[in-house]
Amino acid sequence: MVSSQSLSERRPVIQVREAGGIELDGRVWLDPDKRRDCAIVTHAHGDHIGKHGLTHATPATAALMKLRLGDELEIVEHELEVPFELEGLKVTLYSAGHMLGSAMVLVERDGERLLFTGDVKLRDNLTCPRAVVPECDRLITESTFGIPVFRFPPAETVREQMGDFVAACHRAGENPVILAYAVGKGQEVAKALGEAGIGVCVPTWTWEVMELYRQFGVEFPNAVLYDGTNLGGRVLVVPPGRRYQSLLKRISNKRIGYASGWALRGRAPFPAEIDEFFPLSDHADFDELLELIERSRPREVLVIHGYKEAFARELCARGLEARPLA
Ligand SMILES: [Zn+2]
Repeated sequence: MVSSQSLSERRPVIQVREAGGIELDGRVWLDPDKRRDCAIVTHAHGDHIGKHGLTHATPATAALMKLRLGDELEIVEHELEVPFELEGLKVTLYSAGHMLGSAMVLVERDGERLLFTGDVKLRDNLTCPRAVVPECDRLITESTFGIPVFRFPPAETVREQMGDFVAACHRAGENPVILAYAVGKGQEVAKALGEAGIGVCVPTWTWEVMELYRQFGVEFPNAVLYDGTNLGGRVLVVPPGRRYQSLLKRISNKRIGYASGWALRGRAPFPAEIDEFFPLSDHADFDELLELIERSRPREVLVIHGYKEAFARELCARGLEARPLA
């Protein structure tokens, strides 16, 4: 994996700058946090979307962005693995396996291949295709869970744990609640439980996102909109945000589970009484990040987000050229 030619001998072709998003060649932005003229948005989580002059995204990400930010957004839609030209760059989107519509961005110019992961996971995701990892010369990767403490059990095991939690609640005459973000995780949890034959209810915002997922062929058996009264023998899948705390308070005799990669650290989203943690993440864990690098075979790795210094050090110790991006 290590090139015999050092970086100083091989000057990068595509210029990369991190400044609240990734700027390429001074013209194209990847997931910028400010309004930019020309942006590629990898997926529809709140910290990746914005109102730009012109946005390029997959059809599902475009639809989710319009649901979140308004119909007036100008978005050019691109199917996965169909290359397009943008400001002198050849761009191809590949599934990132992170949520519906999520994509990695492969950018090519003058023989150099630069891959930006956005948010990525390699394990299976019930609501989108698995990640497809192309080979590249330079890789810009996230490292949300880039330290060895974050090694998740198989997703199937975590889904079973959630099912067991619901069954145990019902046996004890308690109301089961699972906290999961409204866009992405909530749909994955609702689908996992529903497909296991468990009745699910969700609040309005999670439901509206599910309706959009349905337009892209993702089905949610055994799921209904929560009517705000009683759970009627169902599990409530609700976002962990503070605005849902009053809704939670109205549910008596409940047990609360939380579906998140941070479960391995027992970190709660707000001062809530969490009875059980489920390490179900939409991000790659430490081993998957290493696998991502093995599969993409880059000669240089630039690390962003999360444990970027620690992960870059780990890669250097393994003989790779790697550094955190400022
Ligand atoms: Zn994300």
